[in-house]
Amino acid sequence: MQREVIVIGGGIAGLQCAKELQEAGRNVRVIERARGVGGRLATRRFEGQPIDFGPMFLHGHAEPFLRAVKDVDGVVMQSPWPRRIQGQGTPCQPDAFAPTEQRAIIPAGMNCFAKHLASGLQVQLNTRIERITADGNCFLLRSSADEEFQCQDLVVAMALEEILGMLGTMGAVPELAPTATLLGMFSSVPSLTLLAAYPLEVPAPDWDILYPEDSPSLQLVSQDSCKRLQPRFVTLVIQARPGWSRERLEQPEEAWSTQLLQEAAQHVGEWVLHPLWTSPHRWKFARVDRGNELSRPLLTPINGNLRLGLAGDVFSPGGGVQAAWLSGSALAQRLLNEE
Ligand SMILES: Cc1cc2nc3c(=O)[nH]c(=O)nc-3n(C[C@H](O)[C@H](O)[C@H](O)COP(=O)(O)OP(=O)(O)OC[C@H]3O[C@@H](n4cnc5c(N)ncnc54)[C@H](O)[C@@H]3O)c2cc1C
Repeated sequence: MQREVIVIGGGIAGLQCAKELQEAGRNVRVIERARGVGGRLATRRFEGQPIDFGPMFLHGHAEPFLRAVKDVDGVVMQSPWPRRIQGQGTPCQPDAFAPTEQRAIIPAGMNCFAKHLASGLQVQLNTRIERITADGNCFLLRSSADEEFQCQDLVVAMALEEILGMLGTMGAVPELAPTATLLGMFSSVPSLTLLAAYPLEVPAPDWDILYPEDSPSLQLVSQDSCKRLQPRFVTLVIQARPGWSRERLEQPEEAWSTQLLQEAAQHVGEWVLHPLWTSPHRWKFARVDRGNELSRPLLTPINGNLRLGLAGDVFSPGGGVQAAWLSGSALAQRLLNEE
């Protein structure tokens, strides 16, 4: 009988893993808590206009990853955005601008990459897994709506701290003790993020991304609307620095949103204080703390005949979207090769 595979997490790592397993003929189901796929590769829409509020662009150097990106409808490889960079501050991923790195944007929204990977997969949305147990023959997964799922191969593909939380629900599983200890040595950084929309008449800046070197709060301001084919609004995405974000993670959104808008206005212009619309987002685990990544995904046999795989951006060097994709791909190949 074929082994059932469940992937918890419809981000880039989980989707790529599921895609390769399905292509090899396995029965795979992806379970995702949100109402759409993509996870941190996130896009919102303001009156139909996409705004990317996770990564601003895709970047990478690994051939298989670049080929997967090239396959997405409408993707712009060797992207002219972001060409106009202002400021000497540090990008979230400084490697993104290394000479070896290719950059790409998707005018229809960055989460189209995730939608592309998900097409043809069995994805169950709006389903949060709350507890995993492993009995002799299968993993039993229970959702917050009390739905139950069973499988013999389980992939957990999400942010590091969320993986640790998920493993914690399994109670004492001796095979997983070293994994939990190892993963406990790593961490992710937060990012408070504010999206803001303005009429086209505002004096929009002449840059694509601003990396201020002298701001206590701002990591970057991205002029997202420059990525769109026919923008109806000028849209800015304002991302806060990790340390500043960490200190304010538990504060009400109004407090830090106002501070971010005021700081952005200092750098961009007074008009920034008068948006048509804003939307705050609290990324508790935005990305892996740089340089703290493992070299490959983990696969642990449990109770003799069950297998638990872990993937996500912490399981491949460099972190970020490319690492998430590579970890999902590598885990799928291990699951197939080590059967
Ligand atoms: C603000 C910001 C800026 C970034 N900038 C860059 C950048 O410049 N370059 C770069 O390469 N990367 C960047 N990243 C990081 C990049 O987005 C991530 O590394 C990558 O998307 C992680 O993919 P993943 O599949 O590992 O995890 P995720 O995208 O987090 O996917 C995990 C999925 O699991 C789901 N999930 C979690 N718990 C459960 C549960 N209990 N039940 C069901 N589903 C669950 C989540 O909803 C999510 O969809 C940035 C991220 C943020 C937030």
